[in-house]
Amino acid sequence: MTTSTPRAQAWTNWARTTTCTPARIVAPRDEEAVRAAVLAAAGRGETVRAVGAGHSFTPAAATSGVMLSLDHLTGLERLVPLPDGGSLVTVGAGIRLYALNTLLAENGLAMVNLGDIDRQSLAGALSTGTHGTGGRLTGLAALVHGVRVLTADGSVVEADAQRRPALFQAARLGLGAVGVLLAVTLRTTAAYTLTAQEEPWALDAVLDGLTGPGNLVDTNDHFEFYWFPHTRRALTKRNNRGPADTGSRRGPLPGGASGASASRWSRARRWIDDELLSNGLFTVTNEVGVVAPATIPSVNNIASRALSARTYTAPSHEVFVTPRRVRFREMEYAVPRADLPEVLGEVDRWIKSSGERVSFPVEVRFAAPDDVWLSTAYGREPAYIAVHQYIKTPHERYFAGVETILRRAEGRPHWGKLHTLGARELRELYPRFEDFQAVRTELDPAGLFANAYTRRVFGD
Ligand SMILES: Cc1cc2nc3c(=O)[nH]c(=O)nc-3n(C[C@H](O)[C@H](O)[C@H](O)COP(=O)(O)OP(=O)(O)OC[C@H]3O[C@@H](n4cnc5c(N)ncnc54)[C@H](O)[C@@H]3O)c2cc1C
Repeated sequence: MTTSTPRAQAWTNWARTTTCTPARIVAPRDEEAVRAAVLAAAGRGETVRAVGAGHSFTPAAATSGVMLSLDHLTGLERLVPLPDGGSLVTVGAGIRLYALNTLLAENGLAMVNLGDIDRQSLAGALSTGTHGTGGRLTGLAALVHGVRVLTADGSVVEADAQRRPALFQAARLGLGAVGVLLAVTLRTTAAYTLTAQEEPWALDAVLDGLTGPGNLVDTNDHFEFYWFPHTRRALTKRNNRGPADTGSRRGPLPGGASGASASRWSRARRWIDDELLSNGLFTVTNEVGVVAPATIPSVNNIASRALSARTYTAPSHEVFVTPRRVRFREMEYAVPRADLPEVLGEVDRWIKSSGERVSFPVEVRFAAPDDVWLSTAYGREPAYIAVHQYIKTPHERYFAGVETILRRAEGRPHWGKLHTLGARELRELYPRFEDFQAVRTELDPAGLFANAYTRRVFGD
């Protein structure tokens, strides 16, 4: 059975960078109904695009054909314990990450790593190369052990490193261009807590701390920082793992507060900081920036100083994820980790000389190299530089200026975040690009799963 909307209903992504009017939007109830919907679309000569939560900034999911939601394919299929306390977990590919986190926690498990929100679908997050931070940890697609894929001829194929390895590579991170992910088997780990240590630092101290023995990236499980443009200040975040049963520990608190009042103070402080960086107050500072851009450097200065140091411990998925109520546009590139200080210096110089006023902090994250063909971390240690702009502030000039710098550094753009590259440039950046294309050509010769974005980034 399939839930289907009337024709010509407009669809918009979270960031409001893309709008489209699919011929129809369908939400099949089970795998057989997905297959029927895809074959019916092919029979009508329509294209098909799977959609998750619409959280890509790029028009990755946009289509004028059939928009296929897997919101009903979310169940737990199988759980195979591993000797290290983790499990191989097979779930419906449409499951949202927040639901997956709950499901894993109920089974004493957790994701090995996560990005900073949990609204995405699993399939959508995998398909664009979603990642978190951690110099020893990969992005999500490299944690996939196997996939079940519906291909353009209606076949349902199980693929992993042994069975159909090329399809496995292309399907676990491939913008839905080789088929529809129906189910995913993930390598998960035993549940754990994270102790978060967040501290404002001088940017130069952060940059000095990135290299050498004992550097911040390799000695913390998850290290990232937010640099406030127009200042030399950054907010550092170090999240380190502990066993699941340590309970909640609060760090040293001002004024010797203890017990319940300490906990209340800590929660209140955490709320203030989250609001400042991500939400309500941040809306106000951004709105001020819209009407009076000249004030942004001073506002950034105040904001970067208002953030306080804090430490807290909570289940991993609660620490990874921050609610994002302020809408923004984002571009993110992975550059070789060794080049990060130089590249960031260039971005700083460009902002100064361009006269652009940037209210959003620049986010810098890290990951381990992996072997996923279209991963931004394929075969090299990445540092991710993400620039954001408030939804009401034009982002084009800022992003274009920074993109020139990131491209010169041989940066690879996040497939789900704004960028201007096409197949010609991307081919040079990904050693296995042609292997990916071969799978796509073999399995979808007529372009059933194509859209304007896949034609841009992969070619016709
Ligand atoms: C506020 C915010 C925070 C973010 N934080 C991070 C972060 O911390 N780290 C990071 O790396 N990224 C981050 N992103 C980007 C986001 O993770 C990706 O864009 C992700 O792809 C969005 O998932 P989605 O479910 O919304 O997928 P959609 O945007 O709906 O779709 C993305 C792609 O997946 C394909 N797809 C969807 N379902 C299937 C399926 N069943 N089979 C095959 N293909 C499918 C679509 O066709 C499309 O190509 C963030 C985005 C936002 C808006």
